[in-house]
Amino acid sequence: MKPHLRRCISCGKVAPKDAFWRVVRVHPSHQLQLDRGMGRSAYLCPRADCLKVAQKKNRLGRALKATVPPSVYEILWQRLSTATVPSPPANCERHDEPTTRQGHSDDDIRG
Ligand SMILES: [Zn+2]
Repeated sequence: MKPHLRRCISCGKVAPKDAFWRVVRVHPSHQLQLDRGMGRSAYLCPRADCLKVAQKKNRLGRALKATVPPSVYEILWQRLSTATVPSPPANCERHDEPTTRQGHSDDDIRG
């Protein structure tokens, strides 16, 4: 039995549908929802590149023949950020170290 292959709307990669996010235009309300529901579906790699293209070029909206509310993209971006935890840049300096005052006398304070 063949696996159910789907195609990413942004990069065109073909993979089993489990590998993609699924966005569904629910029938008959035409509301968009993620992962589940009956209706027209679009598939998207869980990658920043593909999400960016889908958003910028409205690939999602065209594939679904629907207006994609910003909240849908927000949820996907959030998923992306929680799925991959970026490490903070190494050159990020900390400025909250306790400062050690040396040799400060009252004489230093002038007008
Ligand atoms: Zn893709």
